Amino acid sequence: MPNHNGLEIVTIPAGPIETNAFVVIDGASRKALVIDAPPDVLTMLQQAIAAHNVTPIALVITHAHWDHIGDAAAVREQLNLPLLAHEREQRRIEQPAAGPEPIAGAPVDRILHDGDTVELGDHTFTVWHTPGHSPGQISLISAADNLMLGGDTLFPNGYGRVDIPGASDDETIATIRRLLNLPDAVVVYPGHGLPTTIGRERPWMQQVDRTGRLL
Ligand SMILES: [Zn+2]
Ligand SMILES: [Zn+2]
Repeated sequence: MPNHNGLEIVTIPAGPIETNAFVVIDGASRKALVIDAPPDVLTMLQQAIAAHNVTPIALVITHAHWDHIGDAAAVREQLNLPLLAHEREQRRIEQPAAGPEPIAGAPVDRILHDGDTVELGDHTFTVWHTPGHSPGQISLISAADNLMLGGDTLFPNGYGRVDIPGASDDETIATIRRLLNLPDAVVVYPGHGLPTTIGRERPWMQQVDRTGRLL
């Protein structure tokens, strides 16, 4: 178990392409942040919240792709949470295109910008705007707690797809360069699959930084 200074990470894969929702729990206050709302996650999320005896305080959406927002409106309403997202994702959360199933729009209650902070008990997450895979993708980062929740920003051995509308090679390269500033110990919890660390990914990230091209 990685040490996040009393923060506990519960991962809930959901939807047709196994998108991770996260419940980030502050053990001291029993408050929690919910990160992303894949399709069909609501019931599992409610069960996790009950099982861990926590009070969720906000839903943070990393980016507006259908697999991360399928249940955003339901989670926001049923759990009575403010929805937080970057300004460049707002329109596609409020008026989403359909995925494999139609998606209900959800109002964004707090617009996030690079450098904003999101509090959870005594822990502070900084919002990093990490575009490339999606124009307004964000990562919630607490370097003090060795923690990054980045949606589809960074995966083991790679980054989120750039062959889709709204994606940008140049923004992805700039984002990877910026993430090289994080300490090796930071554990990255991606939007799909298993966690990794900045240290483990650094070799290929440095390659991108040196060549200025995606691998
Ligand atoms: Zn995505
Ligand atoms: Zn995804």
